[in-house]
Amino acid sequence: MTIISSTIGFPRIGEKREVKKALESYWKKAIPLEELLAVNNEAEKIAWKLQADAGINLVGLDGTLYDQVLDTIFYLGLAPARFSSLSGYEQYFAMARGVPGIEALDMSKFFDTNYHYLVPELTSSVSPKPDFSILFDKIKRGQDTIGKDKAVPIIIGPNTLVGLAKPADASTPFDHDGAIKALLPAYTQLLQELKGMGVPEAQLHEPILATTDAAKLKAEFTSSYGELSKVGLPINLVTYYDDIGDAYEWAVKLPVQAISLDFLGVPGSALGNETAALIEKHGFPSDKRLGAGVVDGRSVFADGEFPGKLIAALQDKGIKDISVQSSVSLQHLPYNAELETALPKELQSRLAFAKQKVAEIAAAAKASPSKGVSLTSALPPVNDPKEQIEEKLFNRSQEFKTRREAQIQTVEFPTTTIGSFPQTAELRRARLQFKKGQLSEQEYEKVINEYIKYSNDEQERIGLDVFVHGEPERTDMVEYFGVKLEGFAFTENGWVQSYGSRYVRPPIIYGDVSRTGPITVKEFKYAQSLTEKPVKGMLTGPVTILNWSFPRKDLSRSAQAYQLALALREEVDDLQKAGCRVIQVDEPALREGLPLKRARWESYLSWAVRAFRLSTVVADPSTQIVTHLCYSEFADILPAIDGLDADVLTIENSRSGDEMLRALAKYGYSRDIGAGVYDVHSPVVPPVDFIEKKIKTFLDVGLLSGNKKLLWVNPDCGLKTREWSQVLPSLENMVAAAKKLRNGS
Ligand code: GLN
Ligand code: ZN
Repeated sequence: MTIISSTIGFPRIGEKREVKKALESYWKKAIPLEELLAVNNEAEKIAWKLQADAGINLVGLDGTLYDQVLDTIFYLGLAPARFSSLSGYEQYFAMARGVPGIEALDMSKFFDTNYHYLVPELTSSVSPKPDFSILFDKIKRGQDTIGKDKAVPIIIGPNTLVGLAKPADASTPFDHDGAIKALLPAYTQLLQELKGMGVPEAQLHEPILATTDAAKLKAEFTSSYGELSKVGLPINLVTYYDDIGDAYEWAVKLPVQAISLDFLGVPGSALGNETAALIEKHGFPSDKRLGAGVVDGRSVFADGEFPGKLIAALQDKGIKDISVQSSVSLQHLPYNAELETALPKELQSRLAFAKQKVAEIAAAAKASPSKGVSLTSALPPVNDPKEQIEEKLFNRSQEFKTRREAQIQTVEFPTTTIGSFPQTAELRRARLQFKKGQLSEQEYEKVINEYIKYSNDEQERIGLDVFVHGEPERTDMVEYFGVKLEGFAFTENGWVQSYGSRYVRPPIIYGDVSRTGPITVKEFKYAQSLTEKPVKGMLTGPVTILNWSFPRKDLSRSAQAYQLALALREEVDDLQKAGCRVIQVDEPALREGLPLKRARWESYLSWAVRAFRLSTVVADPSTQIVTHLCYSEFADILPAIDGLDADVLTIENSRSGDEMLRALAKYGYSRDIGAGVYDVHSPVVPPVDFIEKKIKTFLDVGLLSGNKKLLWVNPDCGLKTREWSQVLPSLENMVAAAKKLRNGS
């Protein structure tokens, strides 16, 4: 029996965000490249040493200046042709961020996480021009820091790299198999050279195996790993983000020395995923090491007895060669829970960030095995209170057709915005001063009210039909609600990389969620007091709050969503009692939360949709419920979108052609729609005729049979990242376009 420990990824950002600070200074030309590299190297060294010192036997040499997928593109020499005039780090950062005249690579969400990667652009006949010198330098530094026997390179595997890629030329889709084959010589060369450097093994990360289509990948994996195994360097095939489902039976037979599996899956899922059951059913080959991902890399809570118990159960099953690991790379966790000194004591002691998870891994590898535990019963229990909520609380009292009559009556092509207006320097300054105690509550409130007054007057002048207050009091749409709800905790240093130098600090749900009092009513009332026009109440929905937080582990995600929904329901009710006639509940993370495997979509969507309904259906028939979903790619989940039963559906639309509008029309979607008419990510002011054309497509595709009173005109999303000088003329043009079409001209 050999039980060892290994890591498959760790925060690359530095304990105190050193890498972010260095990157941003470098981009501002405040420090030279050498200094950036020195800071990054030091952060890597500290992280590797921390893991080795904790007793980890095989340390994955994580570390990146921006993104690990970009690193792989760069090492393999896969920069698209438009970057060919650049080289070295100049090319690297141009791919990440673009330079004048050369567009950056696309950025996309990495599987079902909130991390974003840069999208490779490939053709079937891709010809890599590898240069591994930077990677080898890193491995050398790793070997010098923690010893050759411990330092393990992390590489994105060829099948995942190709799986994440898009065609270099949109009109010629590339053939995956061909692209993988074309990359193999470069991967082979890489493994050969790594072998020469004396690494104990290489981790090839292949999270693509956790996706829906993994079963179809058998031929590609068999041929690529058949080829790579010829090098004779031990390979650890690392999978994560879920179990590997139907791919399990063939994947465990691939010619590699170790297979790493995630036993936990999505955050806060009813633990765990199917991995334990797959092993129970099919066994695990005796000639391989099992990388047992039993320490939860997606939860900030300590794992307690679970990892040790599960390892014991695996041994009981006769699996002799095991490495204890985290379920996924620890990059998705904050660095060090010891830095949090202001959290409630009972929470502090239950937390484990990346550094503490490493200690858990090492400890579980040393625990002495106990006997007689079955694999599946080793999983910790999750409390899923069978919904005690009465069914009628999920349904509005009247059908849309009837209640729409009682709601605000609009002109044709009614105009509105999505909620936020520019977060100005003045606002940020006031907020900081308020936090530091340099501004009293009254003084701060005065700044907020002046902002609301200003935006009211501008909306009045421009002639919008439904107003917003502009969200000046919020920095972040989740944090703002979390702070005011019971059951949430906020960290001081709990940063997690979202992409590049952008880090987020997700709140932690650690207790039952409830509302202690009105959250948004004061600002609404003030805004509504200024105008005859309806002002929208503005809330973040339960699913989005949950998906952008670290959920509890002892309670199912659906139960947590319902708790949030019940709290928001009180807010919806208070808003309507305060005279609010239109209430918007944003759910931009609804689509994002879809599980990797299609087979699990239905169960997710059913509770997600019900949570939204639970939060909103308290609305009187006369109260109009709006939702905003941001991304418009949800043609595949239209029944769920319809199931939200919102009175108005607003979506981002301006950049995505009209496929989504067609899909809605074809589906027969029958409630009000507000499809974005201009892109809020761009500083460019959209001309009137451009917006007119966008609005006309609503009619062209037959949306709502051309009922112009139900077709709203609004920007794609909130305007908080823009300047007033861009927002005002854009909205003027938007209203002008709507008015022109209203008059039938
Ligand atoms: N109401 C929010 C805003 O306008 C919506 C943000 C979002 O969709 N992400 O900023
Ligand atoms: Zn949006």
